[in-house]
Amino acid sequence: MICPFCKADDDSVIDSREADGGAAVRRRRECNKCGRRFTTYERVERTERLAVVKRDGSRVPFNADNIMRGILAACGKRPISAEAKEEMVRQIEDGCYRDFEKEVPSVEIGRRVAGRLRALDDIAYIRFASEHEDFRTIEDIAAEVKAVQESPKDLPDQRRLFEG
Ligand SMILES: [Zn+2]
Repeated sequence: MICPFCKADDDSVIDSREADGGAAVRRRRECNKCGRRFTTYERVERTERLAVVKRDGSRVPFNADNIMRGILAACGKRPISAEAKEEMVRQIEDGCYRDFEKEVPSVEIGRRVAGRLRALDDIAYIRFASEHEDFRTIEDIAAEVKAVQESPKDLPDQRRLFEG
């Protein structure tokens, strides 16, 4: 592995452990030239990409970057670390590939993003939900704010809002 600091291709693995519940192997490496440490992840390559079925019935290839864009927009300047966002995208992607074989409805992805944002940050969740097309009147948003205030945080998803 090329060292990201000095570009030497000479390192030793100093630690190796499972990550993402066994879906990945995390290796801690030390460059033998400059002595700095870096981390690599090894995971199974996906040979067949999921298709995302949009509301109008059109299909686009699954793209984790699109999920990240939605999350970044919703999170804005909320105090949520880049790592937490990346982890969220990874978990949503892994979950979709685990639960769907060839195609996944875009509303299902939205539902999963909403569920995770809801557990992480109320404001980011409300922002994400307010961008969703089923959720655009001020009354809808007010009702959801009330629901957020009154309900427990560990809802697995937000079916009421994101029903296809
Ligand atoms: Zn180096």
